[in-house]
Amino acid sequence: AVNRKFHHEDTVIEVAGRRIGAGYFNVMAGPCSVESEAQIVEVAEAVKRAGASFLRGGAFKPRTSPYSFQGLEDEGLKLLLEAKRQTGLPVVTEIMSEKHLDLFADVDIIQLGARNMQNFMLLKELGRSDKPILLKRGLSATMEEFLMAAEYIFAGGNTNVILCERGIRTFEKMIRNNLDISAVPLVKIFSHLPVIVDPSHAAGRRDMVQPLSRAAIAAGADGLIIEAHNDPKNALCDGAQSLDLPQFDAVMQDIRRRAAFE
Ligand code: PEP
Ligand code: MN
Repeated sequence: AVNRKFHHEDTVIEVAGRRIGAGYFNVMAGPCSVESEAQIVEVAEAVKRAGASFLRGGAFKPRTSPYSFQGLEDEGLKLLLEAKRQTGLPVVTEIMSEKHLDLFADVDIIQLGARNMQNFMLLKELGRSDKPILLKRGLSATMEEFLMAAEYIFAGGNTNVILCERGIRTFEKMIRNNLDISAVPLVKIFSHLPVIVDPSHAAGRRDMVQPLSRAAIAAGADGLIIEAHNDPKNALCDGAQSLDLPQFDAVMQDIRRRAAFE
């Protein structure tokens, strides 16, 4: 069970030679979407140099409008894995259908996005897999719903779950979502699972990524997932919240002074 009553010690997820949780801090970084080989390799090299330990990049994108860029899908996954091969960075990317599980065989961490947090069939399928799962909190999910979604994965036998607080809907319009910083200590009180924070999707604006990253570290998060892009102005998705590569490097230097990297 995900409840701390049944498992007192903090869980450490071991993946691709990295440890996540119990104070082992990791930064996952990369573009919202994989756009081309040149783009994903350039970003991968830069975030690796800056100290990120995982490369993120969406291939299957859950967009609000069906007319928006939907991701490069299978081809995007191939390019992400090519960036992994060239840089050695393990990768995290979102799955949208259990039909695609075979395509994700070489993905290191499978992301279950906010919009699918209560896709119970997908949760059950991921429960039968042995891949580490990055479970993002639903757009308006309560903590109980969030932890119960993780419980679905556990119930199928997969205990490699990392939780991600990525902001929730509130009345506030000046930010995309509202980072629920309480989620970090609440997860730690009620569960033994690692929890990371996504300041990029929480704020929706790049000028808040550094302060929200500091807040996450202060609250006890086990890591961060941050959007970074080689050319944010021309990004096909989420450019406004993406750091450019020098900005990402600067934010990483700040994070590295504050968090306990292995
Ligand atoms: C993402 O990570 O690109 C994403 C779509 O995030 P979320 O599911 O948190 O909105
Ligand atoms: Mn995004």
